[in-house]
Amino acid sequence: MTPSTEDKTQFLTDQLNELKSQGLFNTIRTIDSPMDAHIVIDGRRMLNFCANNYLGLANHPRLKDAAKRAIDTYGIGPGAVRTIAGTMSLHTQLEQRLAAFKGADAVITMQSGFTANLAVIPALVGKEDVIFSDRLNHASIIDGCRLSRATIVAYEHNDVDDLRRKIAETTDYRRRLIISDGVFSMDGDIAPLPQLYEVAQEHNILLMVDDAHGEGVLGKGGRGIVDHFDLHGKVDVEVGTMSKAFGVVGGLIAGKQVIIDWLRQRARPFLFSSAMTVPDVAACLEAVDMLETSDELVKRLWSNAAWFKERMKALGYDIGHSETPIVPVMLGEASTAQQFSRKLFENGIFAMAITFPTVPQGKARIRVMNSAAHSPSDLEEALVVFEKVGKELQVIS
Ligand SMILES: *Cc1c(COP(=O)(O)O)cnc(C)c1O
Repeated sequence: MTPSTEDKTQFLTDQLNELKSQGLFNTIRTIDSPMDAHIVIDGRRMLNFCANNYLGLANHPRLKDAAKRAIDTYGIGPGAVRTIAGTMSLHTQLEQRLAAFKGADAVITMQSGFTANLAVIPALVGKEDVIFSDRLNHASIIDGCRLSRATIVAYEHNDVDDLRRKIAETTDYRRRLIISDGVFSMDGDIAPLPQLYEVAQEHNILLMVDDAHGEGVLGKGGRGIVDHFDLHGKVDVEVGTMSKAFGVVGGLIAGKQVIIDWLRQRARPFLFSSAMTVPDVAACLEAVDMLETSDELVKRLWSNAAWFKERMKALGYDIGHSETPIVPVMLGEASTAQQFSRKLFENGIFAMAITFPTVPQGKARIRVMNSAAHSPSDLEEALVVFEKVGKELQVIS
């Protein structure tokens, strides 16, 4: 047989070209500095409104010191998965401290928030079961649901009546699970968790919330959405991340002891993938320490966000219905949002345009991520640029 000369990856080249021709090809900026309020891109100092670094911990001296000290004691890597190579006392300590901080029975950590969802959903439900999932849930929840092979029933976003209807219509199942994002990252709205809990109780359905954008943001001193609604011990599973407000990387699952015990036996990303690295764990421990002793950063985050939202509204911007420090600046067409983002960039502001398919057609926006790292003068500077660019593009008058 003569070997084929056909290019086996031509379909990828075609697809990439198609993305480029539709203006949907994602070019990732290179940052030549720590992640902070100001970052360096292409040799230019930019004011950063893109990161989920809500509390400015990503480059905090206390976290950096803690990571360095831990490396001297424990080295870098965990060696293998925890069930085989053993678990470092540092990891166990972080889980205990997180559980105490959040007022949960127990916590298990994962490599990321994404893997936390892949870990917990298939460990709780399987193909005889059904999952009720908010239509706007995060991709990692959707993937965790698919991996479980359970039937997935999507209910309308934050619509508890629709959830009730869908539950009533769904009769063939073994077990049931309701899953919602805590904070929806594109609009900054919060799930109606007390109502979801009511429904879950009425029908004896497991309840899970993914609080990635609420961890370190919502609740007393950043203790998360369960604390925010005072639902301790009532939500079966609370997923969180340490890659956003905590400024590091890593996922967590908080809940009843029996659920966490089960995950240590059966969660596949726990059994078959190594744990967080030593510096990550040490930095997260330091973050918990900081949050437990002071709510100063959380307060500054919220007051920065309140000020920014107020001023943007006063300029005449439509900033949606965010209840959190996420500010969607609604611009409509994708091309407007992209042009807006480019002009912000030219003026020293780094803020991303979010377009279809991440948000619906015609709902393109700039997403402004507030942070405790921003100083009052940073915010003033951003406002001046938003006013200038908005007038240039005739988004505001
Ligand atoms: C960001 C996010 C994740 C992923 O968290 P990582 O720690 O970055 O993997 C999961 N779920 C939700 C809702 C998120 O917003």
